[in-house]
Amino acid sequence: LRDGDALEEHQITVAVRKRPLNKKEITKKEVDVVTIPKKDTLVVHEPRTKVDLTKYLDNQNFRFDYAFDDTCSNELVYKYTARPLVCTIFEGGMATCFAYGQTGSGKTHTMGGEFLGKSQDVSKGIYAMAARDVFSYLTSKKFGHLNLQVSASFFEIYSGKVFDLLNGKNKLRVLEDGKQVVQVVGLVERVCQSPADVLQLIQVGSSARTSGQTAANNQSSRSHAVFQIILRNTDRVDRAAGVQNYRLHGKFSLIDLAGNERGADTSSANRQTRMESAEINKSLLALKECIRALGKRGAHLPFRASKLTQVLRDSFIGEKSKTCMIAMISPGLSSCEHTLNTLRYADRVKEL
Ligand code: ADP
Ligand code: MG
Repeated sequence: LRDGDALEEHQITVAVRKRPLNKKEITKKEVDVVTIPKKDTLVVHEPRTKVDLTKYLDNQNFRFDYAFDDTCSNELVYKYTARPLVCTIFEGGMATCFAYGQTGSGKTHTMGGEFLGKSQDVSKGIYAMAARDVFSYLTSKKFGHLNLQVSASFFEIYSGKVFDLLNGKNKLRVLEDGKQVVQVVGLVERVCQSPADVLQLIQVGSSARTSGQTAANNQSSRSHAVFQIILRNTDRVDRAAGVQNYRLHGKFSLIDLAGNERGADTSSANRQTRMESAEINKSLLALKECIRALGKRGAHLPFRASKLTQVLRDSFIGEKSKTCMIAMISPGLSSCEHTLNTLRYADRVKEL
């Protein structure tokens, strides 16, 4: 597979990734109910009981562009999902990569980097790998003459509000002008000279995201984290935005979504939790509709339906925009219901 091959015919690539059973699940003798018989096929073996109480396995097949089993590395997942999109932003397009799935299924591990005990090795995540490749393209024969500048932003959307992860979780306003251009006012965008610079920002943002978090108050599972790699053309100035601003060339948004099971948590006794759940539900539905409308001329984009889709609006429009979604799966029997929900969602996204 060469660069870009994966996306030649699709505006969107949908992949699924199964994580290994973890220590806790193994100790509890959890049954692994997910198999990946082919590199594009995943089967959920759901235990069911007939009316006469005989037990059987309901085998449900799903097909995606790629199905990664529990032996696949972050590097391999990256190669077939986000990597082909690096080229897109150099060609002047918008690229978006989503990690979707229930809490604990491996979204942050895949996007932000592998966990080593309590600390996270951010160099092992898709954010870092994308940044590494952006810098290699920057000086390549094909794109070196463009005089592009790399910068990065990192923010979180929690309960419909935007917080800057590179600026002490400063709360930010989202404005839309008369031309429907959406702006996150005051969002920090740091210029980066090397992959190491980007790595440092990923570290800062990831720590800010999880700071003050406890097991009981797992706030990051209820927020969407948006990491953006931005290319600006240093030869061209955006007059409308002011002389200081180099014109936007391309943008890669990499998103670690809120746990999808949180959207269903609408019966909680806690009003705050209920409202957060409603917001997550709304944003994941709007996201699905926006992605489905991609590539359909004249289709209605419900981007205003949630803060997430509103701030990503410029990535959903434009001929050159490309998207990939990685649906994360926990393999255990106790996660079966959530797994099926995740797969059905991914299936709907794929079906154009
Ligand atoms: P999420 O962000 O979806 O809530 P995490 O990324 O935090 O889930 O993953 C939950 C746990 O599972 C973490 O301890 C992580 O290290 C582990 N994990 C997730 N995916 C994998 C994988 N592919 N291989 C090994 N461990 C994984
Ligand atoms: Mg997470």
